[in-house]
Amino acid sequence: MSHEAPANSSASNTLVIRNIGLLLSGDLDRPILDADTVVAVDGVIQSVGKEKDLDLSGPATTVDAKGTALAPGLIDSHVHPVCGDWTPRQNQLGWIESCLHGGVTTMVSAGEVHTPGRPKDIVGLKAMAIFAQRAFQAFRPGGVKIYAGAPVLEQGMVEDDFKELAAAGVKFLGEVGLGSVKDGSTGRRMVAWARKYGIQSTIHTGGPSIPGSSLIDKDMVLETDADVIGHVNGGHTALPDDQIKELCERSERALEIVHNGNERAGLLALRTAKELKQMHRVILGTDSPAGSGVQPLGILRMISMLSSLGEIPAEVAICFATGNTAKLRNLNCGMIAPGREASFVFLDTAQQSAGKNLLDSIQKGDLAGVGMVITDGAVSIQRSRNTPPATRVPEVVRR
Ligand SMILES: [Zn+2]
Repeated sequence: MSHEAPANSSASNTLVIRNIGLLLSGDLDRPILDADTVVAVDGVIQSVGKEKDLDLSGPATTVDAKGTALAPGLIDSHVHPVCGDWTPRQNQLGWIESCLHGGVTTMVSAGEVHTPGRPKDIVGLKAMAIFAQRAFQAFRPGGVKIYAGAPVLEQGMVEDDFKELAAAGVKFLGEVGLGSVKDGSTGRRMVAWARKYGIQSTIHTGGPSIPGSSLIDKDMVLETDADVIGHVNGGHTALPDDQIKELCERSERALEIVHNGNERAGLLALRTAKELKQMHRVILGTDSPAGSGVQPLGILRMISMLSSLGEIPAEVAICFATGNTAKLRNLNCGMIAPGREASFVFLDTAQQSAGKNLLDSIQKGDLAGVGMVITDGAVSIQRSRNTPPATRVPEVVRR
């Protein structure tokens, strides 16, 4: 596909990224592409290929990648936002913008559960979900896109509640099990109503996260049959190994591994998915903010942990946090391909890493250095203030 800019294009809406050293597609079926150039128009990827094959003549913002790796912006499949870029859990400001410096460009709310005085009556919980969906649609800290407005299931909800939420723009449920619905048959009925109206569901898995939450075991997870087995490695307290294996084997739903969970259980889930040849089910989240705080580098840490200790090629582990999540959560980001959102992270070997190159450094357990992040075709940040410094960083050469 060649680049053909529309007649009214200007430098402000065409983006050319050239001199890419390694193109990480985010697509598990083909994680590395033989391409060095990406063109985006109006925030959408238009072409991906070799510079010599593309028409780059029109005016454009041009980024020289300086031989670094380009990957889709990372997706955090499991966050708990509240309002604005503030979390009452640790009384911290700016946590979302800080995660942008860890390469995250998209977040999915698993429920605004830390909201002080969170309403638990049905009209109140619906109002809060619609408010959060609207507020975060209009507010993007640093450019991060947050899919929020994830209502927590409470007893007494009826089919019409889900119909109303869907019509109002709600796309995701909060973690099943964090509210008063704690039995599989009620969970299953409500999740099916949500699915009927196009709302995706996630279930809490494992022991209670904080005082007031409770155990969700494999029987409830299997019976409820939510779209995503949320933190299959616990958040933090994991289920026994045999129950985690059973969830991998008996369900076909997404297997979400989180930073704020049990690392050993996360590796068990990963190995089981690998043995089952179902690595397309593995997606990553931080489950932050939480009792253990916010981890701006949480997704990068998960990629390095799973790649190094789980013996997974780094380019595959990156797909867990990009294309896998996008496919399973129906998001138009997470892959470098025409028609997808132009949100990217530029990665390079961290300075002084023992790794021979970026992928080898991740496989050795080091974190990648972030040199630039682009959201919807616009440069959001240049060298990350949070990662270890990237050896090489891209540069905006022409605006
Ligand atoms: Zn949870």
